[in-house]
Amino acid sequence: MAHIIIHGGAGRIDKDREEAGNKIIEKILDEITEVMRDKNLTAIDIVEKAVNMMEDEEMFNAGYGSVLNYDGAAEMDASIMADDGSFGSVASIYSVKNPVSVARKVMEETDHLILNGKGAVDFARVMGFSEFTRLPEGRKKRWKELRKCLDKNETAQGELRYWKKLKHFSNDYYKDREKYGTVGAVCMDITGKIAAATSTGGIWLKLYGRVGDTPIMGAGTYASMYGGASATGHGEAIIKQFLTKRAVELMKDYPAPEALEKAVEEATEKGCSCGLIGVDKCGNAGYAFNTTSMWYGSRKI
Ligand code: ASP
Repeated sequence: MAHIIIHGGAGRIDKDREEAGNKIIEKILDEITEVMRDKNLTAIDIVEKAVNMMEDEEMFNAGYGSVLNYDGAAEMDASIMADDGSFGSVASIYSVKNPVSVARKVMEETDHLILNGKGAVDFARVMGFSEFTRLPEGRKKRWKELRKCLDKNETAQGELRYWKKLKHFSNDYYKDREKYGTVGAVCMDITGKIAAATSTGGIWLKLYGRVGDTPIMGAGTYASMYGGASATGHGEAIIKQFLTKRAVELMKDYPAPEALEKAVEEATEKGCSCGLIGVDKCGNAGYAFNTTSMWYGSRKI
């Protein structure tokens, strides 16, 4: 048996976007189910491929669809982890199409765990990743709108309400609806190996150089012999909870659906807005979130 679960981020998603996103999730799951049948591919290959497919979609906040930082640039975080403790990540990387694949190279080709900024970009070039700087028009338009909100001192709502101190860098705070869109995948392959991967553009108007939960082991991504998990939501709060580490720890005693519910319950008590997906050592997949909605889907073969 092999089982995969993927997410396309949590938050308040408009009805139309929710349906469109669900269709993409289903399409990706159909393709990945075929990939899972290939006995030569491991859980790491499968989660990387699933996340790559989501990174290539404008719909999700990762890779090509990444939201933009305060300066209007896409600065991305991504990580990947296997149940033997292997881990690799990139933080604040730019000008690459698939950050999670660079994270895998960090894991397999270096003695390090995390590379960031220009170091990560230079490393990606050495590893053969070509320059990719195209930004979707929709993201550029939204960035302009948000920057205008800042100038007009409009009230903060949703995810952007987390940037309370941004007013030190601008005149005031700004508004948007609660909205995330990070992508992630957790898989147990047919040999029983587990891996997890996560990729994100972060949160709108984050400061240049900000590192979220995604590239931090145990925060945005975690895997061990008990299971694997990938998180989405307010990065700063997720790091404080070490949310995916906590979720996987709970998988020692509970099947994935319960473990993830419990981890999100604990996070909710701490005011952490988040979503989780995961697979446990028996191959049970689950999800939990305390936001209005979350894009997710799973397949078993
Ligand atoms: N967790 C991501 C971050 O804070 C955002 C998201 O999940 O969309 O960088």
